Amino acid sequence: MSTTAGGMESHKGCGHDAPSMSVDEARRRVYAALQPQQLVLRLPIRDALDRVLAVDIRSPIDVPGHANSAMDGYALRAGDLQANRSAPLSLIGKALAGHPFEGEVGAGECVRIMTGGMLPAGADTVVMQERVRCEADRVWFDGDHRVGENVRPAGEDLAKGATILHRGQRLMPADLGLLAEIGQAEVAVHRRLRVAFFSTGDELRGVGEPLRPGQIYDSNRYTLHGMLQRLGVEILDLGVVRDDRAALTQALDGASESADVVITSGGVSVGEADYITELLAARGAIEFWTINIKPGRPLAFGRLGDAAFFGLPGNPVSAMVTFYQVVQPALIYLEGEAPAAPMRVTARCASPLRKNGRRREYQRGILATAADGTLEVRSTGAQGSGILRSMSEANCFIVLAEECGDVANGEWVTVEPFAGLI
Ligand code: AMP
Ligand code: MG
Repeated sequence: MSTTAGGMESHKGCGHDAPSMSVDEARRRVYAALQPQQLVLRLPIRDALDRVLAVDIRSPIDVPGHANSAMDGYALRAGDLQANRSAPLSLIGKALAGHPFEGEVGAGECVRIMTGGMLPAGADTVVMQERVRCEADRVWFDGDHRVGENVRPAGEDLAKGATILHRGQRLMPADLGLLAEIGQAEVAVHRRLRVAFFSTGDELRGVGEPLRPGQIYDSNRYTLHGMLQRLGVEILDLGVVRDDRAALTQALDGASESADVVITSGGVSVGEADYITELLAARGAIEFWTINIKPGRPLAFGRLGDAAFFGLPGNPVSAMVTFYQVVQPALIYLEGEAPAAPMRVTARCASPLRKNGRRREYQRGILATAADGTLEVRSTGAQGSGILRSMSEANCFIVLAEECGDVANGEWVTVEPFAGLI
């Protein structure tokens, strides 16, 4: 891998001598460097929710298999009503869902039919029951009726031979229903990724341990756990690793042997006496990127043995923003899902925003529907990269472009809702 591709501008004073790179470029490079995993397993369809489909699915049948009624009413030949709308038709039988009428509807005849009942041979139209008057086996119809009204044609949902689901799509509840509609009990999906992660830092303690002066609890491991859990990957939490060469080497080796992806947080920023930078660089397949976003910025990316490696910044908000913007798309890609641009909407900004400098900012916002029905977003307040509360209170990122300056009250801004992200 090289750090000198086009599209990057030199960024003085950022250490690692790394030029600054846009987040879109970072995503592109990650996709280019990674190979989506190919392993496939067959699962009962109920167990396949949220899994990535490994094959295209074609429908072997028409669904519905036969024309049927969309209403409770009477099946008939529309031509009979068009010929003489005041003449009654004779009722010759009934067609219920699952109990077809075996005969044929001839001229001057009709059949009682219920929703889902198979349209009898000879009939082409269903008139809803609210539009008829019955006396014994004679039925009168009011008004005009269109040929084919209230008839659901065979194959209107799924046509035989059509591709109904595509390889690389993540299965949603409706998709499980679709597979059931074609009678398929099992489906081929990609294997789950195994993701190992740990935190680095001598100042970090696990919850439940007492804090001494200068120590903090490790929060990144919990946010990471949550973000990974949402993605449905297999999680290997390797705890906190001290800023110590031997401990880090051991943790990295163990993680890369047991997982498809290794994620660390902390120890990748400039000027730190952390060893992780040095250790990874010595392994030769890692790059240190300075991503032109705030918060965020430093990200290590590369290979550790057979595993992909991401070294996130230690600051809690930076770690989350970098995860969502670069690592999550990469994990989704590795699982075999086709990459998609982040879901964005525009909203009126209901609080002024400060923006200095030329980095793209991911400010934390609260998106809501205003009284007039339009979308409105306001800031969660202080935006420091260590203020995790700003993520906890937010339900979206307010994305401020590189060239954008301060935002005044009432201006329109671009928003990435968390709902589309997690
Ligand atoms: P680093 O990237 O290791 O230089 O850490 C940057 C900042 O993030 C420091 O203030 C660290 O104490 C803090 N930090 C690093 N890792 C964690 C973590 N796992 N949980 C909470 N804060 C962290
Ligand atoms: Mg550290």
